[in-house]
Amino acid sequence: MAQCEMCEKKMNVAKKHVYRSSYVTKRSLRKQYPNVQRVRVMIGNVTKRMHLCTRCMKTQKLQNPPC
Ligand SMILES: [Zn+2]
Repeated sequence: MAQCEMCEKKMNVAKKHVYRSSYVTKRSLRKQYPNVQRVRVMIGNVTKRMHLCTRCMKTQKLQNPPC
């Protein structure tokens, strides 16, 4: 599934609670996915397609080649 190839960030399972006035009536699990995009990346002179999360795209300041 959606996973970043640089930082290996992947799906997280979180708890979801349903409240009725003041107490919890239902508990269930829900999945949180990272915002992973398929981007072209320049490594040396070679262009490569990678699945990166948007955080890695910002921090690494990767150079996308012109189309
Ligand atoms: Zn990442």
